[in-house]
Amino acid sequence: MPLDSEAESLVRVVALKNALDHGGKAQLDAVMSKLLGSRPDLRSSIKSLIPDIKALVASVNAMSAADQKKTLEEIAPGELVAKKQVEQKSPLPPLEGAEHGKVVTRFPPEPNGYPHIGHAKAAIIDEEYARMYGGKLILRFDDTNPLKEKLEYYEAIAEGLEWLGVKPDIVKNTSDDIAILHDYGKRLVNSGGAYVCTCSQDRVRDLRAKGLACECRADGVDVAGRLEKMFAGSYEQNEAIIRFKGDMADPNTAMRDPALFRIIEGDHPKVGKKVRVWPTYDFAAPLEDSLDGVTHAMRTKEYELRNALYFAILDRLGLRKPAMIEFSRLEFEGMPVSKRKIRPLIDSGTIKSWDDPRLPTLSAFKRRGFVPEAIRKFVLSLGLTLAETKPPFEALEAFNRKIIDPRCMRLYFVRDPVEVRVEGAKEMQVTLKNHPTDPSLGSRKVRVADRLFMAGDDAQNLKEGDELRLIELYNIKVAGLERQDGRVRAVRAVMGGDEIRQSMPKVQWIAKNDIVEFQVMIPKALYAGEEYNPDSLEVAKGGVESFAAALAPGAQVQFVRFGFCRIDRSNTAILTHR
Ligand code: ATP
Ligand code: MG
Repeated sequence: MPLDSEAESLVRVVALKNALDHGGKAQLDAVMSKLLGSRPDLRSSIKSLIPDIKALVASVNAMSAADQKKTLEEIAPGELVAKKQVEQKSPLPPLEGAEHGKVVTRFPPEPNGYPHIGHAKAAIIDEEYARMYGGKLILRFDDTNPLKEKLEYYEAIAEGLEWLGVKPDIVKNTSDDIAILHDYGKRLVNSGGAYVCTCSQDRVRDLRAKGLACECRADGVDVAGRLEKMFAGSYEQNEAIIRFKGDMADPNTAMRDPALFRIIEGDHPKVGKKVRVWPTYDFAAPLEDSLDGVTHAMRTKEYELRNALYFAILDRLGLRKPAMIEFSRLEFEGMPVSKRKIRPLIDSGTIKSWDDPRLPTLSAFKRRGFVPEAIRKFVLSLGLTLAETKPPFEALEAFNRKIIDPRCMRLYFVRDPVEVRVEGAKEMQVTLKNHPTDPSLGSRKVRVADRLFMAGDDAQNLKEGDELRLIELYNIKVAGLERQDGRVRAVRAVMGGDEIRQSMPKVQWIAKNDIVEFQVMIPKALYAGEEYNPDSLEVAKGGVESFAAALAPGAQVQFVRFGFCRIDRSNTAILTHR
């Protein structure tokens, strides 16, 4: 069934608004619930309308933020006024020297791994500033090491940003500019600002530590000849590097003639084998920032000592200097946020995939049930601090919970099920609400007779004579407990009274005829101190209602008294958080 024209324009406006509120990406769920809120008459036919709604949302999501804004202004002028007020409330401090319409920021990931929440922090801050000042965001793949970059990673980064709702205005690779970078490198050598060093790596390291120069830096060396040899391919890998002429005695060791180019033999995913001389991060970053028109370059605080070098290189080449802004690296306790820490676990097979729910990668957060809006809110709540304190993971969970709580169905999962036999219980059908306060999430009907299951932990605490409430069903009174090896294996009960007392345990249950085997993976701290934690993935085995077992992967639910979970695959969910 096609959407009527009124519904269609409503969907378009709602999607545009939702997209602008969430970094350019409207969420189908949110759009549908807004639509049904205004047009309850469409509820019965909603299934058949989904393809049309999906297509409209996709077309909105394909637009740039600027186009979304323009379109919304045209079709619903009032909506944007409200949006503007929200925009001014960004928790980020103003950017020094920023002029409206002229700000250019960039996010420069190296495509040598999957994006993680630290990248999300950097990308979101870069994007927020670009939007705050009506400027531009560049996504620049900093791909200057052919041995590390892989196409898979370029794609994973682009996908991760798309999921986050970060929409770059320009996408480019540092390797696109390799000829220009070579040119500037040669210029720097020819003007005496850099030189070709043929010392061994060990010697370079040793002299750098001692603060001494090597012979390659002295007058009289045939620098032009060496430079030519380097680009002609006459040196092997590690036989020659181009070094910045800094100050070998500088207390800032970053200034002690750092490498600007090195020879790396490798098959680069974008340029193949034809390039052998590759710039280092220290050379590529300032050049690219300057040449791309970046006005405000942001990076994490660990690069602080390299700022002097960044500006010295641009000075010596007479190039424009962007402003440099630093923020703290995002880390969580027990969850190292760095490719350097994650990669060895993947390479050794300790962890099978980059979306393992214990990892801080964006694909893992997605798989676990974190939503991009929560990540954005969390990142912005941290602001631009320089402090090296780790924010509590619970803070991120709290943002996520607030967003998913209203839209998650409440269903029952019983861990380590224990059978309960209720003497005298009649077979009946009960209707269970899927959400305590939102009837639009519907209800489900369950047939229950005199046998059901409760969670093992709940059963262990019972004593004969205890009265408890089976949530939304009735009270039962424990008449007997069967034990095996000291653990309660079955509960015999009789019907209890009608009153629901405060003090009474209230437990979830599943009818015996309705239970389906099910497991929930519970991610725990990946690291204990500096060591990998072998107990980092707990598996809770048990059962769910058949209704829950039929949900498709991707569905998010709250298992009552257990936690929010995202269905991962058949009969398996992952705990998002409690
Ligand atoms: P890693 O240790 O994961 O390899 P990296 O800094 O080498 O980190 P890049 O891909 O070079 O990774 O990073 C791209 C951008 O993301 C940089 O500007 C960097 O400052 C930022 N970034 C990386 N990790 C974090 C983090 N944990 N917190 C905040 N920003 C980060
Ligand atoms: Mg890096």
